[in-house]
Amino acid sequence: MRTDDDSWDITESVGVTALGIAALRAAETRRPDALFRDPYAERLVTGVGEGGWQGIVRGQVDSGDDRAGRLYRTIGNFAIARTCYFDAYFESAAAQGIRQVVILASGLDARAYRLAWPPGTVVFELDQPKVLAYKAATLADMAPAAERREVAVDLRQDWPEALRRNGFDASAPTAWLAEGLLRYLPAAAQDRLFEAVAALSAPGSRMALNIGRGEPGSEQARRQRAEAVQQLDPGLVLNSLWYSDEGRSDPRDWFAAAGWVVAQADPVAVLTERGRAVPDEVAEDMRRQILMTAISPTGER
Ligand code: SAM
Repeated sequence: MRTDDDSWDITESVGVTALGIAALRAAETRRPDALFRDPYAERLVTGVGEGGWQGIVRGQVDSGDDRAGRLYRTIGNFAIARTCYFDAYFESAAAQGIRQVVILASGLDARAYRLAWPPGTVVFELDQPKVLAYKAATLADMAPAAERREVAVDLRQDWPEALRRNGFDASAPTAWLAEGLLRYLPAAAQDRLFEAVAALSAPGSRMALNIGRGEPGSEQARRQRAEAVQQLDPGLVLNSLWYSDEGRSDPRDWFAAAGWVVAQADPVAVLTERGRAVPDEVAEDMRRQILMTAISPTGER
């Protein structure tokens, strides 16, 4: 169960979810037709030793017709879609001249190392102290492709203060990312996070995130999903990590009301546009997820 000030290492609680997503990026990277390459992901996953996630990296996970197989294909395809989408988001922000990047809940995201950042780009990575420490230690001999600054925080607390202390410049436009984060925040903390992002965003800043639109209805479906995830890692009890969606604002409405120009994308289309076929039964589940970007008010009329 979650508590207001719980914290974790990469092999515990919410930390494990970062490991799972990195394993999916590593598996994609091994494919001959990979839609992106994340050469750091496999090292970050294998760094914790043997376990269920190694099976994902090696493509050894059961992908049969049962609930677990279908779930695996859904989460796997969604992880690939969101990586492609947010990579393109950062490329576009860089092309627009943005040189300040903040990755909220960076987990084992290796974009600071693997994307072609223009000279002068600073990438802030915010996550729990032990998660950041694991990544820094595992990639210690690798040079990031931008100036990378770690900000160890709890995103339910006063993280803007820590961000400023690490040299964040609120007068420069920023490209923000909250990938795979929102469900791990209570509804009120999500709103506070959005308020902080808006307050720290110079005109022309951008925000990107993904939104999960609730679990498949029934209690039974939720239980099956939890059981399927536990086949991948017995320690990962997903349902107990997510906060309730009750009272949670829809990020599209929140940013639109704050004057941002909001766009959204269908993760299935992100893949099919890149030539990756998505089976119908997987497409239906993937569409519970929405990819969103927004551009902050420019102040011009
Ligand atoms: N964004 C990364 C990615 O897509 O690969 C990681 C996503 S992982 C599903 C969730 C991440 O959110 C974990 O790295 C976890 O440590 C981080 N996280 C969740 N709640 C947090 C909090 N309150 N404070 C700091 N980090 C948090």
